[in-house]
Amino acid sequence: MFVNDCLNVNEKGHLTIGGCDTLDLAKEYGTPLYVLDENVIRETCRSYVNSFKKFYDGNGMPLYASKALSCKELCRIAKDENIGLDVVSGGEIYTALQSVFPMEKVHFHGNNKTADEIKFAIESKVGKFVVDNLYELELLDKIAGDMGKKVNISFRIKPGVDAHTHNFIRTGQIDSKFGFALETGEAFEAVKEALKLNNVTLNELHCHIGSQIFDIDPFVTAAEIMMDFIGKIKNELGITISELNLGGGFGIMYTSKDEPVPYENYMEKVSVAVKAKSAEYGLPVPFIYIEPGRSIVGEAGITLYTVGGKKEIPNVRTYVSIDGGMTDNIRYALYQSDYTVLNAGKADKEANETVTIAGKCCESGDLIQEHTKIAEVEVGDTLAVLSTGAYNYSMASNYNRIPRPAMVMVKDGKSRIIIKRESYEDLVKNDI
Ligand code: PLP
Repeated sequence: MFVNDCLNVNEKGHLTIGGCDTLDLAKEYGTPLYVLDENVIRETCRSYVNSFKKFYDGNGMPLYASKALSCKELCRIAKDENIGLDVVSGGEIYTALQSVFPMEKVHFHGNNKTADEIKFAIESKVGKFVVDNLYELELLDKIAGDMGKKVNISFRIKPGVDAHTHNFIRTGQIDSKFGFALETGEAFEAVKEALKLNNVTLNELHCHIGSQIFDIDPFVTAAEIMMDFIGKIKNELGITISELNLGGGFGIMYTSKDEPVPYENYMEKVSVAVKAKSAEYGLPVPFIYIEPGRSIVGEAGITLYTVGGKKEIPNVRTYVSIDGGMTDNIRYALYQSDYTVLNAGKADKEANETVTIAGKCCESGDLIQEHTKIAEVEVGDTLAVLSTGAYNYSMASNYNRIPRPAMVMVKDGKSRIIIKRESYEDLVKNDI
């Protein structure tokens, strides 16, 4: 019935998360409310770390892709679980610094890092710059030189593997705003350029083939393509690239239609492919990074809302209005993402009503889910939208001057606030 393990139903028929009654959480903290289960997050981090130990002699490290949900508590958990961070902005770097994160374990991504962000990242001792293009390479070399520093870099490569949820194709795919194309020789030229520069050291190559992927094969194919490129660099330029970053994209369950593979299986298969290619090219086995974001926090999170109205339009549909919407979860409005919605106080009842869950913004497209089945809804009910831990808070906005919700962490029946609810005062604090 439920998509994630941290959820259950108690004797009152209420949905629970991490041992906490969701109706009690809604009452104590108000709605809309993001709720995350700490045990699920930590267990997922550990399963990635253990998969390196089990299948790759511990010769790798997961980096939590903090774009999925960047906040101080998540950085603290990542630090605690001995994993690094993938950041994409000065703001995400600042968040890591504020949580006293070991900055050498931070990789800085992005297709348009500004000069200010680059300076800030160098001052913050970020461990690696994942360079996206030649302008950035030049700018980074110049800024590092001016600051009297030498920085470690990686290149973001488009390996030409395009992975969608249940299938993948090798496309040569050069139409992406991210990275250097392999097919056109652009990536090889960039490597040659980097070798001429004094203030950067190229020791890693990176690729990221997509998101919400349920197949291992595209990851294996991408790893092989990247190893072939590392082999070419060794053979033609005499340089050994010692680190390989294979990105994120591991799928999670939003509804019962989704079938994620156990995350362990990924390293099991990829390690075989990488070791074989290393042997083929006479290369040392590279240190591997992966960058899971969605899979670390997605299923650990739910969002609670209160129903404020119900509008039955005969022969059309029934709208159920909630006290949040596209401001806290824009994913349906953006790309019609599937979600499971439950009536939290009737979690033991059959889903016998078909409704459309509408947000409160002045926008007709402000919907959370259309034509979804749910146990009969009344005004005042608490609804739970499942698997909202990733790309919900991090994409939240203040459209219509709606304050962002609070976020609560639950663990073993206890709850604590990790992000406060925004106040009206917060909304105007930068207005002059
Ligand atoms: N790494 C890079 C470079 C990405 O662009 C992304 C997502 O866009 C991720 C990691 C995280 O992907 P996911 O959250 O699907 O694991």
